[in-house]
Amino acid sequence: MKSSIPVVNTTCAYCGVGCGIRVRVQDPGRRQVTLEGDPDHPANYGKLCAKGATLAETIGLEKRQLAPQIRGREVDWSVATDYVARKITEVLEKHGPDAIGLYLSGQLLTEDYYVANKFAKGFLGTANVDTNSRLCMSSSVVGHKRAFGEDLVPTCYEDIDHADLMVLVGSNTAWCHPIVYQRIKNARQNNPRLKVVVIDPRRTDTCDIADLHLPLRAGTDVLLFNGLLARLFEKGCLDYDFIEAHTDGFREAVRQAIDDTTDPAVIADTCGLATRDIETFYSWFEQTGKTLTFYSQGVNQSITGSDKVNAIINCHLATGRIGKPGAGPFSLTGQPNAMGGREVGGLANQLAAHMDFDEDSVDRVARFWKAPNMARKPGLKTLDLFEAARRGDIKVLWIMATNPAVSLPDNNRVREALENCELVIVSDCIADTDTMAYADVKLPAQGWGEKDGTVTNSERCLSRQRAFLASPGLAKPDWQIVSEVARAMGFEAAFSFYEPADVFREHARLSCFENNTGQRQRFFNLEPLANIQQAVYDQLKPTQWPLKPALNGRLFSDGRFATASGKARFISTAHRPVANATSEEYPLQLNTGRVRDQWHTMTRTAFAKRLNAHKPRPFMEIHPDTATEYGISDGDIVHVESRWGEMLAAASVSEGVQREQLFIPIHWNDQFSSRGRVGPLVNPDVDDHSGQPELKHTPVRIRKETFALYARLWTRREIRKPSSDYWVKVQGDHAIVYDMAHQQWTEWTTLLTGSDPASVQYQDPRRNTFRYAWFNGPRLERCLFLSPEPLALNEQWINQLFSKERLERFERQALLSGMAPGHIEDTGAIVCACHSVGEKTILRAISQGCCSATEIGSATKAGTNCGSCVGELNQMIAATLSQPEDQGNQLREQQTAGYELPRQ
Ligand code: SF4
Repeated sequence: MKSSIPVVNTTCAYCGVGCGIRVRVQDPGRRQVTLEGDPDHPANYGKLCAKGATLAETIGLEKRQLAPQIRGREVDWSVATDYVARKITEVLEKHGPDAIGLYLSGQLLTEDYYVANKFAKGFLGTANVDTNSRLCMSSSVVGHKRAFGEDLVPTCYEDIDHADLMVLVGSNTAWCHPIVYQRIKNARQNNPRLKVVVIDPRRTDTCDIADLHLPLRAGTDVLLFNGLLARLFEKGCLDYDFIEAHTDGFREAVRQAIDDTTDPAVIADTCGLATRDIETFYSWFEQTGKTLTFYSQGVNQSITGSDKVNAIINCHLATGRIGKPGAGPFSLTGQPNAMGGREVGGLANQLAAHMDFDEDSVDRVARFWKAPNMARKPGLKTLDLFEAARRGDIKVLWIMATNPAVSLPDNNRVREALENCELVIVSDCIADTDTMAYADVKLPAQGWGEKDGTVTNSERCLSRQRAFLASPGLAKPDWQIVSEVARAMGFEAAFSFYEPADVFREHARLSCFENNTGQRQRFFNLEPLANIQQAVYDQLKPTQWPLKPALNGRLFSDGRFATASGKARFISTAHRPVANATSEEYPLQLNTGRVRDQWHTMTRTAFAKRLNAHKPRPFMEIHPDTATEYGISDGDIVHVESRWGEMLAAASVSEGVQREQLFIPIHWNDQFSSRGRVGPLVNPDVDDHSGQPELKHTPVRIRKETFALYARLWTRREIRKPSSDYWVKVQGDHAIVYDMAHQQWTEWTTLLTGSDPASVQYQDPRRNTFRYAWFNGPRLERCLFLSPEPLALNEQWINQLFSKERLERFERQALLSGMAPGHIEDTGAIVCACHSVGEKTILRAISQGCCSATEIGSATKAGTNCGSCVGELNQMIAATLSQPEDQGNQLREQQTAGYELPRQ
C-alpha cells in the first residue's frame, strides 16, 4: 500500500558520491524517520551503502549542542553573537586581519561555505580561511588547475558504463565510495572486455574486482606513470593530433619521464612491483582507448600528491583520452561537499567561484561583494594556520563542522595550538567532540535533516540537502550564524541573507559575473540559476554543471580547456623519494585510511550501532611475518610510536599489508578510546604545491604492550571515561561495551565493581580472575570480566543478552563463563552490517559448500543489501579454500560443529 507520509528528497551526509535519499518522517516529535535510496538520483539510482542506509539512526538529540555557550556558561544568541562580533573587532583593531582564522569543512553546505568565505575574505580582510578538504583533495585541485586551468573534474559517473579499462589508484573504492564501486562492479559484469587495475600498496577489498593489483611502494606513483608516458611515447601510442591541437608542454613532460627511466626493471625495482605486472598494466593502457583512471586519497595525501595527479593526467592528455565517453582522469572526492567548498573558494589560496588571488579576480570579487576589506593575497593553509595559532599569531580561530583535534597530523601539536589560541570558537551540532573541549565559545549548528541548502558531488552534480526535522534547541544554520555576526559588526547590507536560496542566488550570480567578457572564461558558471526563485530552489532536482545538456555531463569534449590559450598543459613531474624515509630507529611505514562503516572522526557514524559492529576497536593491520618478528599475535595490544607521538591499537594480522607496512584507521578519538588516536603519530610533511599532508607514510616502530589487568564491562548506561591506562568504548546494539587494560591491580578494580554488590559473581583470586553480573529482576543490567590475560569472550552472544527483558536460567548460568551454551550459535564479529551477519556464520556457510558471495547471500543474506561486504566475503572464501586440505577440513569441522545454517 502506498504510504501517505510525504517524501522529502535529500542527499547523503557522508561521502562525495553524493547519493540521493528519500526520507519519510514517521514521528516528528520523536525524530523517527524511514529512508531509502532515491531511485531517480543520478548518483545512486536508489542504492545506498551501509553508512547512508543507517543515517536515520544518527539523528537523535543525545550529544547535541543545543545552546550557545561562552566559557561553559549558557547564553542566548544575542549575547553569543555580540560577544563573537566584539572579540573579532577588537582583534582586527589591535592585530589586523591576519590574526583571525577560519577552519571550515566539506560537511558544510555550499551556502554556509559561501557566507563564511565572503565574511573572511571580503569583510575581515583575511584569507586565513582553510578547510578540511585540504586533507582530502587539495593535491587534485592543484593538478586540475595546472593541467586544465581551473579546478575541473572532466568525467562523470556515466563514463563507468562506457569504459573498457578502469585504473583505480590509491583508492579503496569498495569501502570509501561504495556506490561508485557497485557501479564499477556492475559495469564489469555487463562488459566482458572491461579490465580493472588497482594500484595500491594494500590489498584492499577493492582488489576483489581487480584483474591486476599493483601493490606499489608508497610514494612511487609518479615513477610508475612517468614510465607509462615514456612507454606510450616509445610505442607510438599517442594521439599527436590531440596533443598538437589541444595541449602545451608535451615535449618537456615526455623528456622528464624518459629522464626518470624507461627501463621497466628499474621501475619495478623502485616501485616494488613485478616487471611482468608493469608490462601487463602498460600494455592494457596502450591498447585501450576507453580508459578511466580514478584516484583518491592514496594519490592526494602525499608530499608528491600534486605531481602524482599530473603524472596521471599527462597519460590521458598524451592519448587524447579526455572529454570522451568512458575516458578521462576521475578524482573521487572524499566529503559530501568538498566540491561545493571548492566552488565557493573554501581553500585559503582560492577566491570564490573558481577565481584566484590574481589582481583581476581580487578586483572583480571586491566589486561584486562591495567588499570594504578585500583580502589580496592567499592565506595560511591548514597546517600553517594551526602553527600560527600555536605561535600566538592567530588570536581568533573559528572552526566549523570539523574536528581538527583528531584529524590533523602531528595532532598533539595541533592541540597545543588550540590551547594557545586566545579565542577558539567552534560551531558544531555535536557537543562533545575532542575539538569542542578546546572551545571558548560553542555555537549550536544544525545537523543533517535540519539543514537546508546544496552540495556538489564528485561529478559536479548539485543536489539539495533538505530539512525534514525541526531545528532543535537554539541550533541555527551556519550561514545564518556567520551572517548575524557580520551584521553585528556593521556589514548589514552585504549579509542580509534570510533564506539559503538568497545565498545560493548570490553565489550563482558571482559565478557568471564578468564571466564572458573577453577575459579568460571560467568554466564554473551557474548563470541559468542566478535568478532562481524560492519555489524553484525548493524543488531543484539534481543538476550537473556546466548547465549545458549537450555536454552530457562531460567536460572538454570540444578540446577546449580553461587556460588562457584554451589548451591543456602537460606538467613535467619528476619522481622524488618520500621524505622521512624509514630508518633503523623507525623501521616500519604507517599508512592511514578509513574503514568501511565509519566516517571521519565517528561523531555521527558512532551513533549508528549497526555500523560499530564491523570494526569496533582501533586496530593496526600487520603482515603475518612482521607480527611473528615482533612476537605479536592477532588481537594483542601494540604500542606504535613515531617521532611525533604514540598510540595503542589491537593487532589485526593480515596479508593485505606488505611486510614493512602497517595500516591504522583514522577514526578513533578521545570519546571512544584512550590513546587510540592515530593523529599524534602522523607525519606533518606536506606537498609544497597543495599543502596537503603526507597521511600515507610515517616511519614508526612498534612493540607489544602487556598489561597486568584486562577488563571488559557491558553496561546499559554510559559511565564516566575510565581512568585505566587504556580503554575503548563500543556503542553496541543493546549495551555499551568498555574494554579496559591497566598496568597494575590497584583500587582501580574496586572503582569498577563499585559499592553495588553484584547479583552473581565468580572469583578465583589465585588466578586473578573475577566475573560479576548485576540484574534488575530478570533483566541483565551490567556485567564485568577481569583477568590478567586478554579476554576471550563470546561478544555477540553477550550483546544479545542485553536485548532481552528476561534471561533464562541457562543463560544466567552460562553468562559468567563468557561463552554461549553449546546449542546457541556463535555468529562471530559482524561482517555484513546491513543484516548483522557474523564472520562465523559466513565461515559455516562456506564450509557447507557456498563457493561464491551470491551463494553466501542466499544462505545467510550477507552482502545482499548494499554489497559493501562482498569483497570481504570473497576474501573469506579464497582464504578458506586456499587452506591445505587437512587444515581446511579441521577448520570446517570446527566451524560446523553442532550448528546448522540459519534458515531463510
Ligand atoms: Fe552516502 Fe557515500 Fe554511501 Fe552514497 S556511497 S550512501 S554518499 S556514504
